[in-house]
Parts: sequence; C-alpha cells; structure tokens
Amino acid sequence: MPKDGFKSITVSETVYDKFFDVYQKNKEDLLMKGVNSFSGYITYMLEEMMQKDKTFARYAPKLEKISVDGDRVILKDNIKNRIAEVTIQRGELFCQLCEEKDCVHIGFVFSLPDVYEILNAKGIRHPK
Ligand SMILES: [Zn+2]
Repeated sequence: MPKDGFKSITVSETVYDKFFDVYQKNKEDLLMKGVNSFSGYITYMLEEMMQKDKTFARYAPKLEKISVDGDRVILKDNIKNRIAEVTIQRGELFCQLCEEKDCVHIGFVFSLPDVYEILNAKGIRHPK
C-alpha cells in the first residue's frame, strides 16, 4: 500500500523497464533538477508533458509546422499569414521573423515533441 497522500498505478513490466532504464542513465542530470527518485522522475516527466500539451493546444490552430531540417524549423503563422523561420544560433533559438529569441514561434517550436527531442539532445532549453 502506498503511504498517505500517495496513490499507486500499475504498468506493464516493459513500460516500467523502459522508463527505469532512461531514469538510470540520466540520474545525475535529474539530480541537478531536483529529481532524486524514480517516482519523482515519472512525476517530472508527466508534468513536463502536460505543460507542452497545453502550449501546443494554445498555439496549434494559429501556428503550423511546415518543415524541420537540421538547425532550422519553418513555421506558418496563420495570424500574420507569414512564414516564420526559427534557427539555432550559438546554442539558442532565434526567430528570423520577429528577430527575437523568445516569441510565440519559439514557444511553439519547443512544444513540438520531435523538435524538442533534437533541442534537448543539443542541450537547448526554453528560456523562462
Ligand atoms: Zn517569432
């Protein structure tokens, strides 16, 4: 039985092992983010995912991903009816349309799971 204030869920061994493996490999990085247990890691992942989903839902009809190649993401801005090009410059994202490092286009880019993974691998984080 879980302790007070906690609830347990059951997942298949395959799912558990998959996540546990990732957790093990990233233990040190996670520790720096204040994540010091496997369940803490799952909580952190779920929260991050929900946050991304929310961001995505907020922008989705207004912005569309056209293409992703290497260091460049092309978006269509349906409000301005313009093409926005977001590129990686010196380890940061830069929006060519706004000439800014933090605009809706960049926020949107961070909410795309496939792009987020590339950025994460390069160690690029969303400026907060
Ligand atoms: Zn922009």
